[in-house]
Amino acid sequence: MNTIFQVPKPVNEPLLDYAPGSPGRKELKSRLAELRSRVIEIPLIIDGKEVRTGRITDIVIPHEKRKVIGRFHRAGPAEVRLALEAASRAKQTWGKMPWHARVSVFLKAGELLAGPWRQTLNAATMLGQSKNAYQAEIDAACELVDFYRFNAYFAERIYAQQPLSPLGSWNYMDYRPLEGFVFAVSPFNFTSIAGNLTAAPAIMGNTVVWKPASAAVYSGYFLMKLWQAAGLPDGVINMLPGSGGEVGSPIIDSPDFMGLHFTGSTTVFNGMWKTITGNLDKYRGYPRIVGETGGKDFIFAHESCDTEALKTAIVRGAYEYQGQKCSAASRSYIPRSVWEKIKDDLVAQIKGLKMGPAEDFTNFMSAVIDKAAFDNIKGYIDFAKASPDAKILAGGGCDDSEGWFIEPALIETSDPRFKTMREEIFGPVMTVYVYEDGKFEETLRLCDAASPYALTGAVFAQDRAAALKAADALEHAAGNFYINDKPTGAVVGQQPFGGARASGTNDKAGSLLNMMRWTSPRTVKENFVPPTDYKYPFMAEK
Ligand code: NAD
Repeated sequence: MNTIFQVPKPVNEPLLDYAPGSPGRKELKSRLAELRSRVIEIPLIIDGKEVRTGRITDIVIPHEKRKVIGRFHRAGPAEVRLALEAASRAKQTWGKMPWHARVSVFLKAGELLAGPWRQTLNAATMLGQSKNAYQAEIDAACELVDFYRFNAYFAERIYAQQPLSPLGSWNYMDYRPLEGFVFAVSPFNFTSIAGNLTAAPAIMGNTVVWKPASAAVYSGYFLMKLWQAAGLPDGVINMLPGSGGEVGSPIIDSPDFMGLHFTGSTTVFNGMWKTITGNLDKYRGYPRIVGETGGKDFIFAHESCDTEALKTAIVRGAYEYQGQKCSAASRSYIPRSVWEKIKDDLVAQIKGLKMGPAEDFTNFMSAVIDKAAFDNIKGYIDFAKASPDAKILAGGGCDDSEGWFIEPALIETSDPRFKTMREEIFGPVMTVYVYEDGKFEETLRLCDAASPYALTGAVFAQDRAAALKAADALEHAAGNFYINDKPTGAVVGQQPFGGARASGTNDKAGSLLNMMRWTSPRTVKENFVPPTDYKYPFMAEK
């Protein structure tokens, strides 16, 4: 085809509100009922084929822990070998396919997801990961549609980046895929992240072996089906659920391993990075390592702040999706004068948050993902209960009789280095440190140094000079910094997402910077009239 392709200019997918009586709500409820009425068996998908290993794990609903909605087969070393062979075969055609054809597959996936597949992915995310309708919509539908539209557009912009060509020659960049496969490893908490860790390298011509988180295999399986419906060729993305170590180790051992696209905890990422470093001699080149990891995200209030906006940011920022967002606010620094104004109402609001099954649309919160998360979060709450340096102002109750429910907890501490001010908890727990009015600058320094992470953070101040001071003092404390807004809810194309320090490589998911990591450019120079004499003019006597 003789054309210079231009990807449709991306726009963010509008959110449906699921208000009573809306068509979206009706469709979503009927899809939820349909999915929960059956138990689906989820195979591995290798080379487009279903592979069953007989090593089975049950999938339950976190807010109704005895209800099994699926069973998935776990991969082992034999299936890893098959997947690596499939990825290598598929690369021969996928990597050479014209870029507009590759991009079309994911643009189509995006439009299918915005339309007929929307409620399938939303319902699967609500059941498998206990997100309420709104949290599922912003994740499984809108953010993932946005990833596909925007990444297609960024691919075009990368390919259009070309060097200068002076008269007589033509220089260009050939944006090759990496010379090997990419290993995508996704976390449980965002369906869209799973859909992007896999697709971003694939759009750039790579083939992918994907290990979804065990707690998100349910929605992951529907992602696989979505890509197949969009025409993704067999073997381009191969899905291998299973234990991290069992699946991950043989993949990272392969000489064809050429990239890691990871989102998850800092500990797991650090372990993988060390293994990769130890394996360097085995590989054909230096693998691209991209990882977005943990956070200890802050809200910092100044005396001049709008107190109503601050309260809402704390409630939404800390407790939406049960605090299980890498960007969730989990520590606040509040001047005493402001604290005195907001404390009672904040506590009342938190105590009033409605918690229950995600399928009941009146609930703001639901259960945390699994028993391990429940035990871990409860451990932090129990620690705070027992400490003389902390008081629990709201929440503190944990009940796993029906599902893994943790009441939204608000802790006040007198110690800015208290354990829950420093460590990622990944649950509905906010700790407040109240500082004396006038100690703004020194408290900013405490905030900067309290935790090893640097993912998101927010300052609340009406005083412009104070906001500037905070932005400057906290320059390296957050990769996504908010002024008078909660630190969650980044939108693709609007707030490219990622942090540094222990929060990751900051390659900004859903941006051109991330897409750049999945290509290894070759510079080509063609000389139209090459010289035919080796001697230069300066070599002449006269
Ligand atoms: P996790 O680290 O427990 O698991 C992430 C993935 O790594 C899972 O698929 C897991 O099975 C896999 N894994 C574990 N050990 C492995 C190994 N040895 N080899 C290969 N893979 C292995 O994280 P999680 O509980 O699923 O997600 C929560 C974490 O993710 C939190 O720390 C959160 O902050 C982080 N997160 C970060 C971002 C971000 O953009 N920075 C976004 C979402 C989640």
